[in-house]
Amino acid sequence: MKYISTRGQAPELTFEDAMLTGLARDGGLYLPQAIPQMTHAQIAGLEGLAYEDAAFRVMRPFVDDAFTDSEFEAIIARAYAGFGHVARAPLKQLAPGHFLLELFHGPTLAFKDFAMQLIGQLFEASLKRSGRRVTIVGATSGDTGSAAIEAFRGLDSVDVFILFPDGRISEVQRRQMTTPVEDNVHALAIDGHFDDAQARVKDMFNDFDFRDAVNLAAVNSINWARVLAQVVYYFTAAVSLGAPHRPVSFTVPTGNFGDIFAGYIARRMGLPIERLVVATNQNDILHRCLGAGEYRPEGVAPSISPSMDIQVSSNFERALYYAYGQDGTAIARLMEELQEGGFSLSQGALESLRETYDSGRCDEDETRATIRRVLGESGELLCPHSAVGVAVADAHRRPGTPMVTLATAHPAKFPDAVEAASGRHPALPARLSDLYERPERATQVPNELAAIETLIKQRTHH
Ligand SMILES: *Cc1c(COP(=O)(O)O)cnc(C)c1O
Repeated sequence: MKYISTRGQAPELTFEDAMLTGLARDGGLYLPQAIPQMTHAQIAGLEGLAYEDAAFRVMRPFVDDAFTDSEFEAIIARAYAGFGHVARAPLKQLAPGHFLLELFHGPTLAFKDFAMQLIGQLFEASLKRSGRRVTIVGATSGDTGSAAIEAFRGLDSVDVFILFPDGRISEVQRRQMTTPVEDNVHALAIDGHFDDAQARVKDMFNDFDFRDAVNLAAVNSINWARVLAQVVYYFTAAVSLGAPHRPVSFTVPTGNFGDIFAGYIARRMGLPIERLVVATNQNDILHRCLGAGEYRPEGVAPSISPSMDIQVSSNFERALYYAYGQDGTAIARLMEELQEGGFSLSQGALESLRETYDSGRCDEDETRATIRRVLGESGELLCPHSAVGVAVADAHRRPGTPMVTLATAHPAKFPDAVEAASGRHPALPARLSDLYERPERATQVPNELAAIETLIKQRTHH
């Protein structure tokens, strides 16, 4: 299988090279040239399988000959061994016809562990084989960074640098990044917002001298292998609820569009997904865009669901690529317009997006009210991101089709917001209970490319 860039100007790569490089050299994002199909019988055959076995069957066609079957099986087994629930992604019923897909049983208590733990194992297997080293650089609004650090800490062939917006992530998120003691781990507190951190990471990738000097690799949600890992739980959840014999809808708390785009891939592979509902918090650029067809960033208003506080949603480019009939030139032009302040979707592209996606927005008061209400109705304590999802899902449910809302983080990752909303203090799982006692280690950096690059060069183990 070949991978191509959304902007059409970068070389085609294998799965392994697309994974190792992350962002394409034309600034675009990698996608498979064709999306493999699963038949009705193959989907039905996932019923009752262990998560790891379902993961193998769903992901295998995308990975090609990068790994043998037994290598790939071992990689998947190691990736999910550290999860605190044998089902890995258990489904819980919230209300008649409404289910919660709990994606927070990994080591850092957010869904990003599904992708990041797999990527850590994929990178290690691939780099060990070739004897190469890479420098991983990522920007985080909180959960990606901790998941990346957790996945790469202590690996021989990787240095990992994570830029997080200073003072704009929760204490649990920060501590998960600043307390690992391994010296290949570097938490960088940038003076700025998440979008600044993400922009500096993109700048580093576009600085080819730097990129080649440190062998830069990205594990942000732009990395195709991350999207791929997330495709799996759409299958396991839908099959548990009767797919492929009946359709299922999903509502996804959305920021960078990686998680919901994985649902789109599952749908294109043949999984009967009726609607994919984009749930945004008050930073609702995606909801507005799917409504009026205008994509114009207006600045971020910090919320109690910080992992969704974005204005530039990087994986949306992948959705646009399909909405524009796989026309890389059109995507390159839109992204140039975005540099100038924003773009308008063509009528055809907007209609194409609306064939797949619905959207809704949930403000801060409604998020808190939803946490309270769901606790009363079902005893489930939601994190604020999951609460945004549940509120939007409730507005989009259709009779006869089960709705699955993705619960993207554990409530104990956002204890203050959850307690303020519900009066209940969410406890950390036992395996993380000493997090508040561990010493922290972080480096402050200005929002300046040159300064950050110099620091990374000094710290990499070459
Ligand atoms: C990252 C994250 C999201 C947003 O996911 P995207 O793939 O960026 O859309 C939502 N909730 C939580 C808890 C997250 O960590």
